Amino acid sequence: MNTKILTIDLDTRAYDIFIGTGLLSRLQDFIPDDVKKRSVFVITDENVTQYAQTVSEAATNLGASKVEVIVMPPGEGTKSFSSMQKISEFMLSNGLNRNSLIFAVGGGVIGDLAGFCASIAMRGVEFIQVPTTLLAQVDSSVGGKTGINTAQGKNLIGSFYQPSAVIADIETLKTLPKRELLAGYAEVAKYGLIQDEEFFKWLEQNGARVCSLEQDAVAYAVEKSCRAKALTVEADEKEHGRRALLNLGHTFGHALEAAAGYNGLLLHGEAVAIGMVMAFELSSRMGLCSNDDVERVEKHLQDIGLPTRAAYIDGLSTTVDDLIEVMRRDKKVVSGNMVFVLVNRVGEAFLSADVPEDLVRAVLKDSLGDEEKGTKGKWKSKFSSHS
Ligand code: ADP
Ligand code: ZN
Repeated sequence: MNTKILTIDLDTRAYDIFIGTGLLSRLQDFIPDDVKKRSVFVITDENVTQYAQTVSEAATNLGASKVEVIVMPPGEGTKSFSSMQKISEFMLSNGLNRNSLIFAVGGGVIGDLAGFCASIAMRGVEFIQVPTTLLAQVDSSVGGKTGINTAQGKNLIGSFYQPSAVIADIETLKTLPKRELLAGYAEVAKYGLIQDEEFFKWLEQNGARVCSLEQDAVAYAVEKSCRAKALTVEADEKEHGRRALLNLGHTFGHALEAAAGYNGLLLHGEAVAIGMVMAFELSSRMGLCSNDDVERVEKHLQDIGLPTRAAYIDGLSTTVDDLIEVMRRDKKVVSGNMVFVLVNRVGEAFLSADVPEDLVRAVLKDSLGDEEKGTKGKWKSKFSSHS
């Protein structure tokens, strides 16, 4: 299969995204010649050290002056001040200089953390993203958002810092737990729902092939998603307007994630799947999209194996008031008004700061379900986190 190359065109900093199979085994084709004589740091987590090792060997063979692999524990908890300190100090005492090169090999956690470290080390050293989850390949590795979590919330400390390349080897998805793969799929579907009904139709027909990792289907889905994200980021790098559409389902989703507690009960993509259904439901109640659209979206996500209602998450215990409270604290709140991504139909999303709170509450209540009606705990992930 051919390698696809997409260029992200940001005036001063253009860079390429490479998408294909087996890219890591011929990394010399993608990483710049100038690895030569530079000190290289490969930041990764325990579950993907094999890919970090491949990157490290390639850098050595290409003549890097030194290569260090830094292995972090997996999981959201790693996006912390203490990891940032540990990585920064390790690099500083192991030959970091302005000419160093940092690789982020892993999912969104590693990409965000390593990208943030790269952006502040010596006021910025070059870094390359090697995303190994579907979510990172279609979303978090593209667009230059980096950051860590604090006690006050997720991603509240960070920077905009673009990588010099993104190398998305879809072969790495073969070792990704299925549940993680499906969670990433929610972000793929999101691009169709926001601005591309044709793509959503394609997903309705081919989503199952994507999730069983048929190469042509995955490559197409990753490429389409990266292209959609790239266009959005080019138009609005720092999220003053259009980029915010990428938050479809995320205001609801972030609230659910916070309520679930970031401990694996609810993955980000799963929360986004539920959140997107809520965004459609809200839009339908506001007379914007049809109820058929709501059902269509819910059906597709369900067919794929994603949860579509908060009630389906066994062990999630929260209330409408709690969720509203978290939504108010979201960093996307503009001068007191919650901003929502709404839809006119599948493939046409827009922003609105003018949403009646009683409708938001009604949608939340509906998704949380009703113990008596037996809607609770209906969705069980068929996949444990590390199957
Ligand atoms: P995300 O990319 O969804 O933000 P993480 O960075 O937390 O999420 O990655 C999700 C989990 O999958 C982590 O436990 C990580 O170690 C693991 N992981 C990432 N990529 C792979 C892979 N290609 N194979 C196996 N496990 C992986
Ligand atoms: Zn997301």
